[in-house]
Amino acid sequence: MNIAVHNNLKALVDYYHENKLSHTYLLETNDIEKCYAELKIIIKNINCPHEYQDNCANCNLCKLLDNNYLPSFLVIEPDGKIIKKEQILDLKTRFSTIPIYTKENIYIIKNAECLNATSANMMLKFIEEPENNILGFFITNNVNNVISTIKSRCEIVKVFYEANMDSIYNNPYFSLVYSYLQKIELEKSKAILYNKSIFLNNANLDYNLIFKLMLDIYIQAIKVKMGEEDQEYSEQFAFLLKNDLKELRRREQIISAYLEELIYNVNIELFLDKFVIELSDFNE
Ligand SMILES: [Zn+2]
Repeated sequence: MNIAVHNNLKALVDYYHENKLSHTYLLETNDIEKCYAELKIIIKNINCPHEYQDNCANCNLCKLLDNNYLPSFLVIEPDGKIIKKEQILDLKTRFSTIPIYTKENIYIIKNAECLNATSANMMLKFIEEPENNILGFFITNNVNNVISTIKSRCEIVKVFYEANMDSIYNNPYFSLVYSYLQKIELEKSKAILYNKSIFLNNANLDYNLIFKLMLDIYIQAIKVKMGEEDQEYSEQFAFLLKNDLKELRRREQIISAYLEELIYNVNIELFLDKFVIELSDFNE
């Protein structure tokens, strides 16, 4: 299969053909719209009655799926800031009959963190009765913000796309993370203090996004170090580029490991202290 989608999504097609697909997935991504578009390619791929080609234009099924007109396929997006119980009721009504054109009734819920307790409770019935041909996908920026009764019943798949400089600069946490990295790289002995002054004094920070952004910044630094020219980056991130390639890779691995740990509920103060000690490598 040669389709341009994220590898972790592509793997779902293999699971499907091996009959190993779960009934409910929670996709965590840094780009909800892109993830949604690629997920639709996957859904077309597994349902297309022909040998699926990129942008299958030959069949009605793919056309109907493209336009969200297929009766056995429903996309739910938040109405304002929440997903309302009426939207879930609509889903239940639609999917109370067996699917006709596809093997499963398939739903996608975008911004799954917008399910409130009422609508989430209504959703649980679908998730708990997997025998009735329903395949579900929740998409979110942060699994920790998804109500735990839903999260615990889903298989979590990470669909993170490589950042470019634009997405790094446009990240809402850019200036916060930039000043943090600058301080912990240049003033290592005081690094722990900056956990408090920069992060912990702010309530309600999304540490998942913060750590993902840090990771993206170090990945870019590694690229620049390896000779991929980016003048703008080299000037702004000189404080990172003074590290050699080995050091940058070590930091990348540490940040990546801590990002994984954030799936679990952590004590953020201890978490950050441990992180900064490991990252700063006080032995040098
Ligand atoms: Zn098709």
